[in-house]
Amino acid sequence: MVVQPGEGAGRRAAGGAAETVEAILGLGSNMGDKAVNLGQAIALLTAPGDVAVAARSRNWRTPPWGVTDQDWFLNACVRVLTTLPPRALLGRCQEVETAMGRVRTLRWGPRIIDVDILTFGRLRLAEPDLVVPHPRIAERAFVLGPLAEIAPDLDIDGRTAAERWAAIDRQGVYPLASVPSPPG
Ligand code: AMP
Repeated sequence: MVVQPGEGAGRRAAGGAAETVEAILGLGSNMGDKAVNLGQAIALLTAPGDVAVAARSRNWRTPPWGVTDQDWFLNACVRVLTTLPPRALLGRCQEVETAMGRVRTLRWGPRIIDVDILTFGRLRLAEPDLVVPHPRIAERAFVLGPLAEIAPDLDIDGRTAAERWAAIDRQGVYPLASVPSPPG
């Protein structure tokens, strides 16, 4: 059973079975073979078997944000079903970043891979290490484009992802041809 938890997200259901929660992850890469990097990140996120992809957006070509003097990005979103609690999912995202050789240097600077938790069921959490829903979804076309593809009806502070995508400046943000197949 998929639940949409509130504050109790990630606790174990009666009987000890872990709850399955639907979460949405945002991925980005602007170094090396960006498409391969996105595919590898998804493969690593799901390899242990406790995160499964329910939907994957196309890869979107997007201009750099924040620090604009760097290569363009490839971004994607995945809707996943997971039995991991929120912090364990964050840990998985960070393990994948580290395994792929991400070095944290400049904020908003070049990166092999970035994996963010955009939503975790209906959980709302604002702590130093984890804020969900991700606070900057609504203002970033590079998130909203792929997000609106896989979760158009997702409510983001009173407006759907599709409505927000329709209203935002989309300059330079466009999808590449098709949804890539999983590796292997
Ligand atoms: P970034 O530069 O996007 O990789 O930022 C990573 C930092 O943001 C880490 O220290 C995380 O603990 C923190 N963080 C807070 N909320 C989130 C979230 N929803 N998804 C990913 N990282 C988050």
